[in-house]
Amino acid sequence: IKDLCFAYRNSKELAVNQFSMNIETGEVISILGRSGSGKSTVLRILAGLEVPSEGEFTLFGETMFGKSTFVQPEKRGIGLVFQDYALFPHMTVFDNVKFGLSKLSKTDRNKRANEVLELVEMQDYKKRFPHQLSGGQQQRVALARALAPNPKLLLLDEPFSNLDKELQNKIREELYSILKRAQITSIFVTHDEDDAHTIADRIVKLDKGKVTKIGRPCDMLGTPLKRPEVILK
Ligand code: ATP
Ligand code: MG
Repeated sequence: IKDLCFAYRNSKELAVNQFSMNIETGEVISILGRSGSGKSTVLRILAGLEVPSEGEFTLFGETMFGKSTFVQPEKRGIGLVFQDYALFPHMTVFDNVKFGLSKLSKTDRNKRANEVLELVEMQDYKKRFPHQLSGGQQQRVALARALAPNPKLLLLDEPFSNLDKELQNKIREELYSILKRAQITSIFVTHDEDDAHTIADRIVKLDKGKVTKIGRPCDMLGTPLKRPEVILK
C-alpha cells in the first residue's frame, strides 16, 4: 500500500493522508486510532468502496488501484466484516454463509459452508436465523461468511464494538486463533488497545489520517503487555 490519499467530497481535509505500508502474507495487522482518525476510510479504500485521489495498492502482485487501474470491489477477493455489514435477517445461518459461494457446485458449497462454520464453532446453529443468535454468535457467523470464499485479504472494522467486555475478550482470543488457523492475511481496525495487542502481529497507529507509528505490539507500549489482572479484595 503506497501513499494513499483521500478526502471526502464535502470535506477540505484529507481523511487519509499518504498511508503507506507493506504487509506480509499471513500477517495480522491492527489499525489503532481515535474516532475520526481515518481507520474505516483506509479499509473502505482497500475494499474498493472509495476511490483515492492518489496512491497505489497491490495485492499478491496484482494492482488493485494505481494510476490507470481500478479493480471493482467484488473482483478483489477481499473479505469484509464491517460493523454495519449485518447478516441477512431472512436467511438461516447456513444460507448466509453460502451466499458468496455461488460459483461452486451445490455439493462444494455445502462442504465449504460446513467447514467455515466448524472453524468458528457454529456448526450446531446452521438452521437458526440471525435473530435467534446472541451478538457474539452473529459476529462469528459474519466472520464465517467472510472467510467462506477464501479471501486473499480479510478486513475487519471493529467487529466486536457492540459486545460486552466479557464477550469481547472471548471473541478476541477466538478470532486470533481462527485467523492463525486459516493463515489469513488480515487488517483489523479498532480503537481498543487490548484488542490490538492480543490480535495483531503489527500495529499501525493513525492520527488525522496519517500513520504516526508502525511496529510490533511489544515495541509499541511502554508498559508490559497482557499483565495478569490483579484482583484486590
Ligand atoms: P471511528 O473510530 O469513529 O469509526 P474512524 O477512524 O473509522 O473513526 P473514519 O470513519 O475513517 O474514522 O473518518 C475519517 C474522517 O472522515 C472523519 O473526520 C470523518 O468525519 C470523515 N468522514 C467519514 N465518513 C465521511 C463521509 N461519508 N462524508 C464526509 N466525511 C466523512
Ligand atoms: Mg470507523
